[in-house]
Amino acid sequence: RFDASPSLIKRLLTGARRRTVHAVEEVEFEVTRGSTFALVGESGCGKSTIARTIAGIQPPSGGSVSFMGVDIAGFRTRHAAMPYRRNLQMIFQDPYASLNPRWRVGRIIAEPILTHGLMKRGVALDERVAELLDTVGLAPGDAAKFPHQFSGGQRQRISIARALAANPAFIVCDEPTSALDVSVQAQILNLMKRLQRERGLTYLLISHNLAVVAHMADAMGVMYLGRLVEQGDAGQILARPLHPYTRLLLDTVPDPRAPKRARARLAGEVPSPLAPPTGCAFHPRCPLANARCARERPLPLRVEAALVACHAVEEGRLPSRPPANENC
Ligand code: SF4
Ligand code: MG
Repeated sequence: RFDASPSLIKRLLTGARRRTVHAVEEVEFEVTRGSTFALVGESGCGKSTIARTIAGIQPPSGGSVSFMGVDIAGFRTRHAAMPYRRNLQMIFQDPYASLNPRWRVGRIIAEPILTHGLMKRGVALDERVAELLDTVGLAPGDAAKFPHQFSGGQRQRISIARALAANPAFIVCDEPTSALDVSVQAQILNLMKRLQRERGLTYLLISHNLAVVAHMADAMGVMYLGRLVEQGDAGQILARPLHPYTRLLLDTVPDPRAPKRARARLAGEVPSPLAPPTGCAFHPRCPLANARCARERPLPLRVEAALVACHAVEEGRLPSRPPANENC
């Protein structure tokens, strides 16, 4: 359970000055054990801040991260948080930057096992590393190689083996395939799905790719400028999106069978978090915005298996929409 109320702050460099912004505000969601929750949104919406906070890389400035009933954000020392940290691992976007180039693969994968004191150096540890390499589809002999000897997809397999090494329950996956060739993406996603099935893993998936989300997610949250605008069952949201921003995001996905509706009608840039718009933060870009939208921030409203924060939904003036294509 993640709860950033009121906000997570982030320090941004603006020119020569450092300023504090509310990167994430009033975001609250729960991830069910053994399922995948996807966070979606354009870059700068705050999804990586959430990922890094949950994974313990970025200290939270407020709110709580409750993991198996314990508020892990509240721990003062690294030591106290260790047993929980072991259960929370992260896979990063860039398999080139996230692996130490001077370490052999065996050392990279063994590191979390040693850090958490799960095993000592020796034959048993080497066997464990070989087993992890095998689990992700690499050869035991790969332990002796360096990261640069592998392709992007293979490096992401190494990252996954490292994430699995300490036997975690929860893995934060921050854009795990967006740096990879399209042909390799599906292999990595299918590997992640198989591991989830076999090990009962829970995933928080950060992605801007809705095809990836459709393939992986049970539940999803759509973020805009640090807030969740729509969250709930992924199947329902992808098939019948309600929030105007979610609808536009879905419409930017190319659909080969509907060339007319295919491309970006999502005009304009995401506003700077340094000067967020008043009322509904999406109003400068929203085709349904009215005077109330510019004035008053919409509160989340339950619609079937989703929560939607939009005045048009509340006022019943949301246009009906042709059913979404099955690709997405
Ligand atoms: Fe658009 Fe208004 Fe809904 Fe915001 S609250 S998404 S501006 S209709
Ligand atoms: Mg990011």
